[in-house]
Amino acid sequence: MLPEFANEAVLNFETPENRKKQLESLATVQSRLGREYDLVIGSSRLKGPRAFVSTNPGAKSQIIGKSQSASADQAVVAVETAAEAFRMWSRTPVEKRAEVLLNAARLLREKRFECNAWMILEVGKSWAEADADTAEAIDFCEFYAREAYRYSGPQPLTRYPGEENELRYIPLGVGAVIPPWNFPCAILVGMTTASVVTGNTVVLKPSSDSPAIAAFFMEILFAAGLPPGVVNFVTGSGASVGDPIVQHPKTRFVAFTGSKEVGLHINEEAARPRSGQIWIKRVIAEMGGKDFIIVDESADIDAAVKGVLASAFGFQGQKCSACSRAIVHQKVYDEFVRRIGPDAGRIQVGPTSDPSNTMGPVINERAMKTILEYIEDGKKGGRLIAGGKQTQGDGYFVQPTIIADVDPAARIAREEIFGPVLAVIRAKDLDDAIRIANDSEYGLTGAVYTRDPERIKRAKNECFVGNLYINRKCTGALVGVHPFGGFNMSGTDSKAGGRDYLLLFLQAKAISEAVK
Ligand code: NAD
Repeated sequence: MLPEFANEAVLNFETPENRKKQLESLATVQSRLGREYDLVIGSSRLKGPRAFVSTNPGAKSQIIGKSQSASADQAVVAVETAAEAFRMWSRTPVEKRAEVLLNAARLLREKRFECNAWMILEVGKSWAEADADTAEAIDFCEFYAREAYRYSGPQPLTRYPGEENELRYIPLGVGAVIPPWNFPCAILVGMTTASVVTGNTVVLKPSSDSPAIAAFFMEILFAAGLPPGVVNFVTGSGASVGDPIVQHPKTRFVAFTGSKEVGLHINEEAARPRSGQIWIKRVIAEMGGKDFIIVDESADIDAAVKGVLASAFGFQGQKCSACSRAIVHQKVYDEFVRRIGPDAGRIQVGPTSDPSNTMGPVINERAMKTILEYIEDGKKGGRLIAGGKQTQGDGYFVQPTIIADVDPAARIAREEIFGPVLAVIRAKDLDDAIRIANDSEYGLTGAVYTRDPERIKRAKNECFVGNLYINRKCTGALVGVHPFGGFNMSGTDSKAGGRDYLLLFLQAKAISEAVK
């Protein structure tokens, strides 16, 4: 019996020992930059017809790694290899499958500082954000290993005379696992391990912004005892590699996390049956957000300012859960605006290899341009109270930006920007605030700051989001504690890190035997 699941504690980088270890691991990873990573299909390590590089968004000229742009044919071979491996892996006992996850968790703990370093360099996470990502990846391995045991055991059924009845959960088949770059370890690990611990096999296509971190985890999986063919690693662009994987008739399900646009495209592609296909593909899609924090007149304003800043600017606002709308009661609006602007201005922005920079770069040039365009657009209808500009440096740095007096119908109040931009919106009262909050095509996270118990009750009943927080920030969901996933265009209502998540990777078979 495994001990009860408990979350992995995050590291304190104020401790000299932890700082030293992180600096040492950064130096080690720096010495490994520029390596070439192969595709992994079955037992073969392969080159693609072309290759591409990933670079450090905080030091543009620094090449992190060279990865393969797989051909469509290689993507097809990967699906067929996974289908072949499914015969063996789907019959492998749960003990063996769970053991791989537990070994992976142990190895991630051992290589924790190295894992953090890859994220600090390849996607510009601050030390604390990188470490939280690694801790979440460890949690997914530990949590899903336990959950797999639970689903493999006897399931409750109503007794019936003359029969012995049983319900078994069995795997689906080959899954296309398509993660984003923003939780390049945790989300990739979560979707991959949920797939394999339930007996499925996988074609893993990581984001082209974070392929080296993905390759790092592939090595961990093999060291953890995963047999070849169970997870096949195929890098390349979404259109040239992602589409053939999603479309292949032997692909049984898709586990995707990313933008609304790509999620909808994948859903459409997966829905169309291809020649030889004998099932309806299942799509698990976790998509974008336009998350809010309501600050009520009764709120503790200090706490609210702190919570909004952490939620809006943690990892440069590049979290699906990031607060991009602060909806503030008119009675405390001026005070809130007066306090939050200067606090945002004190956030130190720069390369995250230096731990004093708590805000790093945005992921790439395209993202930076889009963010700056949104800021220009937002300034036309609102009042800039912090940031607003790109900052100097050899990276894609954007100041933490706050625009006040934003109309709830403005683009910056409605569209996901995915960068350090906060819109502050005035609300007449709590009714008005909840109405503005819910008036969104998304429904991922939200928070409400209020001291009034009646208003807390109302917020709990009326705010339509998958993850609602009261008197705390709206980011930082913990595996097992805050099952995570949103409503509406935020996805297919799944809950990563929750007790029903593995069901999405399983199908139930009822068996009835007549007995005398
Ligand atoms: P993205 O949609 O651009 O890419 C996600 C993944 O899809 C990448 O691996 C990409 O290569 C792949 N892809 C692109 N086109 C494809 C295609 N045609 N077929 C198959 N795969 C394809 O998203 P991103 O920029 O990597 O991530 C940011 C987005 O992810 C934001 O919208 C954010 O809100 C969302 N996100 C959501 C959650 C959640 O839990 N709801 C968590 C993290 C991120």
